[in-house]
Amino acid sequence: MPSVITENAKETQKIAADLAKRLIRKKLNKALVLALEGELGAGKTTFIKGFSKALGVREKILSPTFVLIHKHKIHAQRSTFNTLYHIDAYRLNSGKDLSKLGLKEIFANPQNIVLLEWADRVKKVMPRKSIWIHFYHLEQNKRKITIKQ
Ligand code: ADP
Ligand code: MG
Repeated sequence: MPSVITENAKETQKIAADLAKRLIRKKLNKALVLALEGELGAGKTTFIKGFSKALGVREKILSPTFVLIHKHKIHAQRSTFNTLYHIDAYRLNSGKDLSKLGLKEIFANPQNIVLLEWADRVKKVMPRKSIWIHFYHLEQNKRKITIKQ
């Protein structure tokens, strides 16, 4: 999927849910990593809400700006993955900060899905096979989302 336009938050969540359903049975030898970039309010957290719901995450998805990292259990049946990590790199200065959060271990585990907001700030430590998702704020409720696998 190269690029889509959404007209409201629900549509963005639907795009995210569709992607989650396509990835849920993927078998890798490391974590599945989604790198999200785009300005504040572009829809990154909204996307992660839709993605998580499709995987059967039951907790409410909140922006991890202050906590930096949220861990959620995946309840979907027949999923390759059992844990979803939601990370916000907005306040991080470098990959070094991320190493302190135990990110290496998180990236190494094939049962993890990792969604990282502001991934462009820590590009150097992002795994090479990450799926990059860019959010463009076009108009008040209009967003362009590009997914590069
Ligand atoms: P980010 O995490 O990128 O800072 P959020 O997802 O927290 O962005 O916020 C996006 C805001 O924009 C939400 O209030 C959401 O309801 C609103 N919004 C309006 N239109 C859209 C759209 N098409 N897609 C996503 N969010 C939208
Ligand atoms: Mg956010």
